[in-house]
Amino acid sequence: MKNTSYPIKGWVKNSFCDWEGKISTVIFLPGCNFRCPFCQNWDLVTKPESFASLDWETIKESFSTERNFIDGVVITIKIIKSSGIDYEFRTTVLPVFHSLSKIKDIGKYLNRAKRYILQGYRDIGVNSGFKCDKIFSKEEMEVFKKEVEEFFDECKIRYYK
Ligand code: SF4
Repeated sequence: MKNTSYPIKGWVKNSFCDWEGKISTVIFLPGCNFRCPFCQNWDLVTKPESFASLDWETIKESFSTERNFIDGVVITIKIIKSSGIDYEFRTTVLPVFHSLSKIKDIGKYLNRAKRYILQGYRDIGVNSGFKCDKIFSKEEMEVFKKEVEEFFDECKIRYYK
């Protein structure tokens, strides 16, 4: 893996919930230009300068020593579809942003991606000013799934209620 000059602002060494059925290590990068109301990393999004940058060499060393234990790496930017590595895309689906036609647009945009997850909103770690009251039911999420599953090798729902 090449060295990087891009600042790394957070690192969860072992995560059991970011990639279903796999153990992953999660790297947090600053610079997101979205402002999703459900964002659980809102402080990193709005105040990246308040986080110390982590040492890439330390993280890289961990990748080397734990490569037989870790199944994958999760980062907060899109992984290019043609990378050749295993990956998934996710959308946290909320009525304030998404409709059937918008979900279909996402499907067309990501067309022929390996795995796509329609994820329910989870009211954990969200800034109080960002919280969402109205969410989709699991049945409504199933309708979205039927609308886009043709675009992906695998399409699943992660629902938390
Ligand atoms: S949820 Fe992701 S895309 Fe949305 S503001 Fe947070 S980091 Fe950015």
